[in-house]
Amino acid sequence: REDERVSELVMVIEDEKEIRDLVRYNLEKAGYRVAAASDGEDGLKQLFASRPDALVLDLMLPGANGLEILRELRGEPKTHDLPVLVLTARSAEMDKLLGFEHGADDYLTKPFSPRELVARVKALVRRARPSGMSPAMVAGPLTVDLDAREVRLEGVRLELTPREFDLLAFLVRHRGRALSRDELLRKVWGYDFVGETRTVDVHVRRLRAKLGDGQNWIETVLGSGYKFVPPAATTAPGIE
Ligand code: CA
Repeated sequence: REDERVSELVMVIEDEKEIRDLVRYNLEKAGYRVAAASDGEDGLKQLFASRPDALVLDLMLPGANGLEILRELRGEPKTHDLPVLVLTARSAEMDKLLGFEHGADDYLTKPFSPRELVARVKALVRRARPSGMSPAMVAGPLTVDLDAREVRLEGVRLELTPREFDLLAFLVRHRGRALSRDELLRKVWGYDFVGETRTVDVHVRRLRAKLGDGQNWIETVLGSGYKFVPPAATTAPGIE
């Protein structure tokens, strides 16, 4: 089911509620998770906290405007690669030039068609993925097929619940990185509050049981969360 996928998180910063809602509605319909902010300050705060996969950014905002936000993002190691689609009410070439100069990846003039917006966001997210764009991630004997939502261990299909699949896919995708329980709750469960972190532990325990000999691939990071460490023999690159 579409709504159970680990979908990319797109952030929208736009002060006009109608446009914000329009963007959110259409991106959600296209299968993305969406976080929204109505001003630059809140937007930046959320951005650094939730690390979205793409940003839809209005240029004309109260307080810090879009260009200032762009500059800040590009100067920050965590977000300097973040794909950004800039929205502006004006079609002036000046805005476009300034936007690109400050690091926008793409540009859309209001009023825009929702379909066009979704197409642009899709292209940005896709482009942001390193080469290959294979829907399968390989980690040693483990294959995570994102399209089929199947995990195979040495070719044998594992029976996972949708949530277990999402969690494992997320861990594999961010292999080698310590992921806090809070981040996992936000990104895998889609919670935007600090929830019951024990939920994460329960799911990790079940995943480990299903991974059998591979249970050690999900390492516990003391005082933090979990890290997926692929088996040593791994040479095959994943999609990230
Ligand atoms: Ca605006």
